[in-house]
Amino acid sequence: MKNILVTGALGQIGSELVMCLRDVYGSDQVIATDIRHVEDHPIVQSGPYEVLDVTDAHRMHELAKKYQVDTIMHLAALLSATAEAKPLLAWNLNMGGLVNALEVARELECQFFTPSSIGAFGPSTPKKQTGQETIQRPTTMYGVNKVAGELLCDYYFHKFGVDTRGVRFPGLISYVAPPGGGTTDYAVDIYYQAIQQRAYTCYIAEGTYMDMMYMPDALKAIIDLMEADPSRLRYRNAYNVTAMSFQPGDVAAAIRQYIPDFVMSYQVDPVRQAIAESWPDAIDATAAREDWGFTTEYDLSKMTEDMLAKLRSKLLQKVS
Ligand code: NAD
Repeated sequence: MKNILVTGALGQIGSELVMCLRDVYGSDQVIATDIRHVEDHPIVQSGPYEVLDVTDAHRMHELAKKYQVDTIMHLAALLSATAEAKPLLAWNLNMGGLVNALEVARELECQFFTPSSIGAFGPSTPKKQTGQETIQRPTTMYGVNKVAGELLCDYYFHKFGVDTRGVRFPGLISYVAPPGGGTTDYAVDIYYQAIQQRAYTCYIAEGTYMDMMYMPDALKAIIDLMEADPSRLRYRNAYNVTAMSFQPGDVAAAIRQYIPDFVMSYQVDPVRQAIAESWPDAIDATAAREDWGFTTEYDLSKMTEDMLAKLRSKLLQKVS
């Protein structure tokens, strides 16, 4: 990876991935792009930044050529809850943007990464220890896009030899950028509310388990997979990865270790609850461990300690 183009770079993952890549590969080597232009954003100020709508294939190709890109990390997408509210927009953005990015990768012989999701599973998928290869019949537009995306990336690898790689991310928890409309966003919001209000009203029902991962582990997974020996990759699109599986009451209990008077109540959102119930409780990441040494550092307790500390100083800085 010498010159890396990142789409959707101002989102929850991109905001941290770009900084991490700039640390590892050099600031000028990472070209951040997003449909938004935000002048004072650290991403815009710390290296090359271009406004790019991923549905504009021509501009994507032009930018990739201009910066002599050899790696594309395609993040721009509409997430699960938003995609369910705007399914046609989701199809056009999630599939249109992906095929444009894959075409640029094919034409310019780039290595390619895009994340799939636990949303690529559905109600008929086994709920526990969900395997790498299993039933994938999702019932959401997001899930349909993710399964089609995994297959499309496989197709570009087999048909055109594009070095496509991907993971199925669980819900990602982070404190830098807010999450972008996913079903697992509660697991981020709860930390903000715990610090600011000592109370949180959860839209996901008690007892609903989903896989999760702390952002530092997700960033490491992306880089490790992209650096992995290609001959060891039995699956390219996409590896199951996870760090923990919990239900809302577990996060509340973990937070109470640090904020004993934290109060949790529930007001279930039927749309997001239905999405959550259609996903696995806990997926199996054995293939990722075996093929490219996937590991994680953060469990719920360690993540909670770090999230609360980092968020406290972030929110304090905002006030002062
Ligand atoms: P996000 O919603 O936080 O960010 C998406 C970014 O894409 C935003 O900055 C937005 O401005 C940009 N964007 C929207 N439309 C665009 C367009 N037409 N052209 C260019 N940019 C556009 O999303 P994220 O959480 O960073 O997710 C990135 C990828 O990771 C997505 O494919 C998502 O499905 C996948 N993923 C995320 C999670 C998670 O928990 N965050 C979990 C599993 C998979």
